[in-house]
Amino acid sequence: MKTISILGSTGSIGTQTLEVVRASAEKLGVHSLAAYSNVDMLEEQVREFKPKIAVLMDLDSALELKKRIKDLPVEVLTGMDGLTEAAVANSIDTVVTAVSGRIGLEPTLAALKAKKNIALANKETLVAAGELVMKTAKQNNCSIIPVDSEHSAVFQCLNDKKSLVKKIILTASGGPFLGWEKARLSKVTKDMALKHPNWAMGAKITIDSATMMNKALEVIEAKFLFGMDYEAISVLIHPQSIVHSMVEYIDGSVIAQMGVPDMRLPIQYALSYPNRWPLCFEQLELAGKTLTFLQPDEEAFPSLKLAYECGKKGGTLPAVMNASNEICVHAFLTGSIEYLEMFEVIQQVCREHKVMPADNLEKILTADLWSRERSEEIIREDLKKV
Ligand code: NDP
Ligand code: MG
Repeated sequence: MKTISILGSTGSIGTQTLEVVRASAEKLGVHSLAAYSNVDMLEEQVREFKPKIAVLMDLDSALELKKRIKDLPVEVLTGMDGLTEAAVANSIDTVVTAVSGRIGLEPTLAALKAKKNIALANKETLVAAGELVMKTAKQNNCSIIPVDSEHSAVFQCLNDKKSLVKKIILTASGGPFLGWEKARLSKVTKDMALKHPNWAMGAKITIDSATMMNKALEVIEAKFLFGMDYEAISVLIHPQSIVHSMVEYIDGSVIAQMGVPDMRLPIQYALSYPNRWPLCFEQLELAGKTLTFLQPDEEAFPSLKLAYECGKKGGTLPAVMNASNEICVHAFLTGSIEYLEMFEVIQQVCREHKVMPADNLEKILTADLWSRERSEEIIREDLKKV
C-alpha cells in the first residue's frame, strides 16, 4: 500500500489522481488533500477518501470546511504552513504536486527535505527553481517522477540509458490555434483560447497551451528533470496527441511512448513506478489513426524561442519568465490584456531582469516577486494608454 498526499486535489490533475486511487483502492491510500478554496469539492473528497489532513489555503474556506466536517476525525489546516504540513507527515510515501503555479515550490522543497518522493505535475515549480529542487531531491535521496504526459513519456523511453541519448523530442498538440498567423491571433478571445482540442485541463494550463507557453515551460522542465542540455531538447507538433514524446539514441533509433490523451495514465504510472498496474481506463486503438508531425511556428508563437533563451541564460531568468506568464495569464483571463500582449509583457520583463544565480530559495522568490510586480506595472501602464 502506497500512501499519498495530493496538493491541488480539487483541480483537473487532483481529481484524476483520485480517480486512479478509486480504481486502485487496494494499492493506494490518501493521507492528505489540499486545495485553495473549493470547500464543496474538498468536503466531498474528504468524506469519500478519509484523509488525516485536509487543507484549504484560504482561511475563511478552511474555517467553513472545519465546521462542515466536525463529525470526522480530520485535521483541517490553512495557509502555507498547512500546505507544507500536508506534504511532510511521516506516513506519506509520495506527494502529488498538482497545484497550479509557482505556489507549489515551498511545499515541494519541504516534502523533499522530509524524504518524500514527488509525483510532479506542477511544472512551474521546476521552471522557477529547477536547480534547487533537483539538488534537494538528490541530497535527500528522493525520486521526482514526472506526471506531465511528455515527461512521463521521456522517462519511460529513457530506461536509464541517458548516456546513449542524442536528443529528446517533446511533442505538442499545437493547441487551438495551430496553423494561425499573427494577424489572425490578434483576434483571439478568452473563450477561444479556453477550448483545447485534445485535453480538458485547468484554465491556466489551457491558456498556456494556446500560447505554446506550456511547451516552453516543458522544455525547461525537461532540462532539469533529465539533466539534458537545451541543444538536446527539441519540440515537434503532433496534433493527435497520441505519441506523448520520444527519445532519439546515438544509433539513430527513436523510441516513442504512445497512449490515449488521458492524464490518468501518466498519473497512474507515476504512482505505480517502478511497477505497472493493469489499465482501468480507455485503451489505445491505433487502427485507422493517422499520426502527423510538423515543426512549430516560432514566428507566430514566440514563447518557445524565449524559453530556450531564458533557459540557456539560466539563473533567476526562468523564474522571472514563469512568474510574468502567471500574471499575464491571469490578466488575460480577467480581460485586462489581449492575447498577443501576453508575449510582449513577458518578453519585456525578461529583457529588463538582471539575472542572478538561482542557488537559494530567497533569490528565486525575490526574482519571482519582482517579475510579478513589474508585469502588473506594465499591464497597468498599457491600460492607461487605451
Ligand atoms: P487546476 O486549475 O485544475 O487545479 C489547480 C489546483 O490547485 C486546485 O485544486 C486549486 O484549488 C489548487 N490551488 C490553486 N492555487 C492554489 C494555492 N495558492 N494554494 C493551494 N492550492 C491551490 O489545475 P490543473 O490540475 O490543470 O494543473 C495543475 C498543475 O498540473 C499545473 O502546474 C499544470 O501545469 C500541471 N499539469 C496539468 C495537466 C492537466 O491535464 N490538467 C497536464 C500536465 C501538467 P481550488 O480548486 O480550491 O482553487
Ligand atoms: Mg504536458
